[in-house]
Amino acid sequence: MEFVQTGVKNEILYWGKRLYQKGMSPSTSGNISIKTKEGILITASGTCANDLSEDDIVLIDYDGNLKDGNKKPSSEKIMHSEIYTLRNDINAIIHCHCPLITSFAVAGIPIKKAIIPDFVYEFDEIPLVPYFCPSSIELAQSVGKRFEKYNAVLLKNHGIVIGDVNLQQAFYKLEIIRNYVEIYFGSQVLGKTCLLNRKQQNEIKNLKI
Ligand SMILES: [Zn+2]
Repeated sequence: MEFVQTGVKNEILYWGKRLYQKGMSPSTSGNISIKTKEGILITASGTCANDLSEDDIVLIDYDGNLKDGNKKPSSEKIMHSEIYTLRNDINAIIHCHCPLITSFAVAGIPIKKAIIPDFVYEFDEIPLVPYFCPSSIELAQSVGKRFEKYNAVLLKNHGIVIGDVNLQQAFYKLEIIRNYVEIYFGSQVLGKTCLLNRKQQNEIKNLKI
C-alpha cells in the first residue's frame, strides 16, 4: 500500500507543478486529489502546488477524516468527497483559482461559447454555481449537484473545479478551458468574436463517434 501510494502521490506532485507553472494555481490556492482504494489522497491545507512534497499529501475517508499523514487536509475536502461519491467515473479532481478562468466566475458568466473546436469537442458548457463560502457544505453540495451533469464547474467569485478519469486528463481539459478564456479575451480586444455555427459544432461533436 505504501508503494502504491507513493506512485499516486508522485502524480499529484507532477501535475501540481504543471498547474502552478502554467499560472493556474497561484500561491497556496487550490487543491488536488486522487481517489484510491483506501480513500482520497488530497493535498494538505496551505500548500503551494509547485512546492509539494509527499508529506503534503494526506489520505482521508469519504467523511473527510484523516486516515494517514500528519497534516491538515485541504479545507475543500468535502467538495472533493461529494464529487467522488456521486461520480464513479471520476478518479481525479483539480480545484484552482486560475486568474483568467476565475475572471469569468467573478463576472458571473458561464463558459459556453462555441469559439474553438477543442472546447466544442470536450464540453457543452462550464456552468456557474452561486457564491458560497469556501470550504462550506453548501458549496460542496452545490458543486456536487452540478457534477450530476457536468465534469467542470465555475465557482462564483472563487475559481473552478474539474474532475476526470485521471489527473493528466483533468489537467489537459483544464488547459482547454484556460485556452478558451485567453482566446476569447484576445478576440474581444480585437473587437470581434466569431462563433462556430450549429452545423460546424455538430461536425466537431461527430468526430467523437
Ligand atoms: Zn478555492
